[in-house]
Amino acid sequence: MSYDSNNIFAKILRGEIPSKKIYEDDYALAFYDLYPKAPVHALVIPKGEYMDVVDFGLHADATSAKGFWQAVAKVAAELGISENGFRLISNCRVHGGQEVPHFHVHLLGGQQMGPMIAH
Ligand code: 5GP
Repeated sequence: MSYDSNNIFAKILRGEIPSKKIYEDDYALAFYDLYPKAPVHALVIPKGEYMDVVDFGLHADATSAKGFWQAVAKVAAELGISENGFRLISNCRVHGGQEVPHFHVHLLGGQQMGPMIAH
């Protein structure tokens, strides 16, 4: 499988689809999820073309990986959810329920997030 440059997040990166931006630097873009699942629900995506966390973990260079994870930390601080904490999720491929094939992490917070998965 190869990267589909027509996915929604690629279009957001290119500015073809609007998003409610929270943070941007050379490595990452963060914006609010269109269908929030918590009082605070942000998405952080790398600027490079990676399909999922496996692709990113195996192929991103050290500078890009460091830049991405530093952006995640900065976004959490900016949203005021660092101190009390938050849930970070990356859905991967079919069993993970991934809908958009551009690597992203969800930051969910603003309340106690409850059990890790529904039973
Ligand atoms: P996934 O299931 O791939 O981990 O999550 C994709 C997320 O993207 C979902 O939580 C969904 O609500 C969000 N989403 C889908 N389309 C858009 C969009 O056009 N804009 C924004 N901001 N979020 C979107």
